[in-house]
Amino acid sequence: MNSRRKFLQKLTTAAIAIQFSPDIIAASYKNVYNEPYDGPVLRVAIMGLGSYANRVAEAMRDCKKAKVVSVISGTPSKIKDWQSRFNIPEKNCYTYDNFDQIKDNPDIDAVYVITPNALHRSQVIRVAKAGKHAICEKPMAINAAEGQQMIDACKKANVKLLVGYRMHFEPKTLEIIRMRNNGEMGKILFFQGWCGFAIGDPTQWRLNKQLSGGGSIMDIGIYAINGARYMVGEEPIWVTATETKTNKEIFKEGVDETIQFQFGFASGAVASCLSTYAMNNLDRFFLNGEKGYAEMQPSTGYGPIQGRTFKGELTQPHVTHQTVQMDEMASIIFENKQPIVPINGEEALKDLKIIDAIYLAVKTGGKVKLKL
Ligand code: NDP
Repeated sequence: MNSRRKFLQKLTTAAIAIQFSPDIIAASYKNVYNEPYDGPVLRVAIMGLGSYANRVAEAMRDCKKAKVVSVISGTPSKIKDWQSRFNIPEKNCYTYDNFDQIKDNPDIDAVYVITPNALHRSQVIRVAKAGKHAICEKPMAINAAEGQQMIDACKKANVKLLVGYRMHFEPKTLEIIRMRNNGEMGKILFFQGWCGFAIGDPTQWRLNKQLSGGGSIMDIGIYAINGARYMVGEEPIWVTATETKTNKEIFKEGVDETIQFQFGFASGAVASCLSTYAMNNLDRFFLNGEKGYAEMQPSTGYGPIQGRTFKGELTQPHVTHQTVQMDEMASIIFENKQPIVPINGEEALKDLKIIDAIYLAVKTGGKVKLKL
């Protein structure tokens, strides 16, 4: 058997293992990573060379199936810096004005949009029109209507739309999901998600509604929204929410500081969550079922994630989230692999529908029904 076939066989074994044991996912990654890889490599253009783009690109140095080959940026000095750091040829460097030309560049497979939230919609639509796969950071857009337009554009162009939900590949998270699916926690009754940090610099784009589309809910509360869905394993059917604003200078109209929100699920389970830009040390999930519980703290940071269940400590090894995410995205694009928790546009649209409903619930003070 040639080495490529052997490798693919190991990868398939790893993929099967992922479905059953997050312990094995990390071990399999290690084994697979120690072997040379000669399969297809996803050639990625990074758009928006800011703080998170740097983290993603550095993590991608360890990817087997994905590689940074191109940049799209409004800052010439950053383009130069990235060219030398990642060995990017001049012909693969673009600005926001001219990046539609990637349609004529056969050396780029996908564009990863890592810009302020309100820019995602138009940028992803342009990527799709250029015939390239679109990877977009969370939140995919600033409301559900925009999210739907992005899905439609990618469908029309026959390209994939994937969203940077890195927790969907995190081994301890997947172990809790496995235990829940296996019935080990019994009927799920309650989820609690606290997500927040003190925002700092009042001039940053995250506090400018034109660029952020909102406040803490868009940026950090979305982890509790998405987490409630993948932890409970069900879609919420209603939401209630209240907002607290202690500083109207920093958190202007339309930029939420702290929102508490609650979900109800058809099974009778409930969730209680907090999203804030005003407090540190809030990165905690708690899931309770009839037969057992799971808790994680930190639950969605860059890791190592820590947690335990009623059976003891979660011991799955730490993996660099963005490395695994990008290799998995390559498999989704090339092999149509189906992740345990989806990361496609439709998945992201559900979070946007919930965000729309949370803002409506804050405004009306009532219970808003959800149809996801
Ligand atoms: P940064 O401010 O650090 O970077 C954003 C970059 O976007 C800028 O450096 C700039 O790059 C580009 N940009 C284009 N237009 C503008 C504009 N009008 N104002 C400001 N920047 C602009 O933000 P982050 O990297 O922290 O966040 C970017 C996206 O990534 C957001 O959607 C955020 O939610 C998401 N994110 C996701 C995380 C995750 O864990 N999944 C973590 C952190 C962020 P250039 O100069 O090259 O044009």
